[in-house]
Amino acid sequence: MQKVDHIGIAVKSIEESISYYIDTLGLKLLAIEEVESQKVRVAFVDAGNIKLELLEPIGADGPIATFLEKRGEGVHHIAFGVENIRTRMTELKEKGVQLLQDEPKPGAGGAEVAFLHPKSSYGVLYELCGKGSKGE
Ligand code: ZN
Repeated sequence: MQKVDHIGIAVKSIEESISYYIDTLGLKLLAIEEVESQKVRVAFVDAGNIKLELLEPIGADGPIATFLEKRGEGVHHIAFGVENIRTRMTELKEKGVQLLQDEPKPGAGGAEVAFLHPKSSYGVLYELCGKGSKGE
């Protein structure tokens, strides 16, 4: 597996939580965008060797809305950067890892993403994050 690309953190409100990351921790905001396929608004924060991905739900029925309802705010997933996401998904499936989807979905920053089932990953939700043609 290549390096960790980012850590996804579920928040109720980016507007409310962002000043903690920028003003209190002194990190830099990189971008804010909406990812319709995941029903989230996403803020990327530069934490030096890694990015933090703040995830705010849009609407009440997306995966982040459900997560917040069940578990509250906090770490949601860890994302590995991968070169060829489809190849990597096939390899993992062959090794018995359960994936949450068969095809990569469009993620933030033009990336293609797929999630590994926490049951296959000792309780951690891992994301595979393949860089798409749109770049960062
Ligand atoms: Zn992510």
